[in-house]
Amino acid sequence: MATWIKGGVLVDPVRGLAEERDVIIDERGRIEKILPKGSLRDAGPRLKIIDASGKVTIPGLIDMHVHLREPGHEHKETILTGSRAGVAGGFTALACMPNTDPVNDNGSVTEFILRRAREADLLTVYPVAAITSGQKGESLTDFGHLREAGAVGVSDDGRPVSDREVMRRALEYAHSHGLAVISHCEDLGLSAGGVMHEGDISARMGVKGIPAASEEVMVQRDISLAKLTGCPLHIAHVSTAGSVALIKRAKEEGIRVTAETAPHYFSLDHRAVIGYNTNAKMNPPLRTSEDVEAIKKGLFEDVIDVIATDHAPHSPLEKEVAFEKAPFGIIGLETALPLTLALVREGVLTLPSAIRKLSSTPATILGVAGGVLEEGKPADLAIMDPEWEFVFEAAQIQSKSKNSPFIGKRLKGKNTLTMRGGRIVWERDTEYPGC
Ligand SMILES: [Zn+2]
Repeated sequence: MATWIKGGVLVDPVRGLAEERDVIIDERGRIEKILPKGSLRDAGPRLKIIDASGKVTIPGLIDMHVHLREPGHEHKETILTGSRAGVAGGFTALACMPNTDPVNDNGSVTEFILRRAREADLLTVYPVAAITSGQKGESLTDFGHLREAGAVGVSDDGRPVSDREVMRRALEYAHSHGLAVISHCEDLGLSAGGVMHEGDISARMGVKGIPAASEEVMVQRDISLAKLTGCPLHIAHVSTAGSVALIKRAKEEGIRVTAETAPHYFSLDHRAVIGYNTNAKMNPPLRTSEDVEAIKKGLFEDVIDVIATDHAPHSPLEKEVAFEKAPFGIIGLETALPLTLALVREGVLTLPSAIRKLSSTPATILGVAGGVLEEGKPADLAIMDPEWEFVFEAAQIQSKSKNSPFIGKRLKGKNTLTMRGGRIVWERDTEYPGC
């Protein structure tokens, strides 16, 4: 049956528009028509109506940085539970990082991930394969084979590629195979033993810090390698003012660099860690309030192109331990949209530019479809209520893990429906069993 999304505002992130529109979706799950509001009067027997009045229809969000944990760490998340968390958050596609067990460093793991995603059948999963075998930083994986198996990019995320020559060859080799390179920028010598941002709070808490320079020296190194090779580079999870400044200068020089940040880096600073809160422990760590302001400015100026979650599930058993021992990372798929909408209310981003950083730009960087609402394209979309206020509660979380510093916090802006290929994969009161 065809569908009529009636009323509401439609966001076109590519053209930068947010206007009242009606959307007709045909029986094959494609957008048939986008019409000015009110131009269609009668539904007729052919159309099922979804009332979107007072709401906003956006392209299905695309998260280019997610840890789905399968294979190997299914107690944290599976491809099925991660897909559920994704569609609940308004995402219709995710790119998943290779630090699974086994590492996604060969075609059979890539194919396994794609098969599990097809079985889950909720959203599109784009595997990101490892740059080096076993993510050991030594020998490059077989990029051609990985591309053929379905990988869209390469990254050793969770770890940096410390060897400069290996990273240089990775940039060249990936470019020739049409794979994006996503760099986790961290100088392991500077960060070793650190558990939070190195600053006044870490000093007061008496724990070892991770200096901003640990990120920035590697951002600078990778920018130099992108300049040397002329190949595109994408920098993951930017957290410091210094990194924003380096990326800004590189872009002004015409170097092919793009960058992402995660919602926690513009929503929280290192004070969130006070009390040894393991749900505020991530890598890179939460930085200072000056860094938070620089990240926001970087988003405003398009120095930072993408908002990605770095969704990193961990079980309570792993997180409810001494601060120093807890693993890094927080979940993010179900809070990304409201946290980003807070930037729109603050005037940092317009609504179309916020959605662009969550959809069409990551699609472009990964070289995949999606992130647009156009006639003839698949109806991958979400309908959200930007005014809906709610308390983010653990019981509502679809992810298998609940490690979020936003639990108990009042958030504004909620996804109410997610559609993939014209099929509703999530609705406001959907509760998937067994989560
Ligand atoms: Zn990382």
